[in-house]
Amino acid sequence: MLCRIIFLVIVVAIIQSVKVDAQTPGYKIYAIPFARSGYPFTAADWAQGGSKSEKLDITFSVWLIKSSTGRCILVDAGFERDMEDAKDFQLNYYVRPDSALRPLGIKPEDITDVIISHPHWDHIDGVSLFPKARFWMQKDDFDYFVGRAWQEPKDTGGFAKRDVRKLIELNLAGRLKLINGDNQQILPGIKVFTGSKHTYGSQYVLVTKASRPTIIASDNIWIDANLRQLLPPVKGGTLSSAGYVAAMKRMKTMVKQTKYIIPGHDGIIYKRFPAVGNGIVEIR
Ligand SMILES: [Zn+2]
Repeated sequence: MLCRIIFLVIVVAIIQSVKVDAQTPGYKIYAIPFARSGYPFTAADWAQGGSKSEKLDITFSVWLIKSSTGRCILVDAGFERDMEDAKDFQLNYYVRPDSALRPLGIKPEDITDVIISHPHWDHIDGVSLFPKARFWMQKDDFDYFVGRAWQEPKDTGGFAKRDVRKLIELNLAGRLKLINGDNQQILPGIKVFTGSKHTYGSQYVLVTKASRPTIIASDNIWIDANLRQLLPPVKGGTLSSAGYVAAMKRMKTMVKQTKYIIPGHDGIIYKRFPAVGNGIVEIR
């Protein structure tokens, strides 16, 4: 009798786990370039100890995580063209981030969620382009961005006042979800992690339910050389060099191949994955 009960319990457990698995959507992940710098940057400009002869194609991207059930999640929102800080990058290509999604058949109002990796202008300024989205941000990052950063001594590098106003409006409209720290599952098959201190509470995204587990690191890894050589970024790239390197080491334990850890600004990733048109690649 006991054996039969144990057997039944096991069978029920298996059926339950299969059901849960079937309910968790499988995702396709796309990297979408919306701007490129024409300035001849080298790895040494971005990574401490990086090579002066390693030329970079500095690219600005958003990443789309698309479920089979109609959920469209963006990681970061990019920026709008009139952003003053963009001038320093001598852009030779720009298409507004919402328009950059069109070749995938995605309209701005199709975006259901935007995970904000951190509130620098090039990642957050585009929030107003996605009228139906709910936004996800680390609570510590939000508090710092809208409050403490603007107190003396100011610590506002990479922050734009207009973006602070946009975030406050989203919060007032009930469209902002604040996440409490590291290792949080925020959506089925999607977890976020902190620790690199690119900004006060910057986060990266692990997609577990995809053809391969994939990390969208955004600027928690600026360029491929940071990850390849475990180099911290140059000044201004983190509040903790040790934290930044430790986060990269930790990311490597979460995926099978480092190819599936996607840095924020290195155009090399567009050569590593299959092209699907208009410069977009599918990360698989
Ligand atoms: Zn950036």
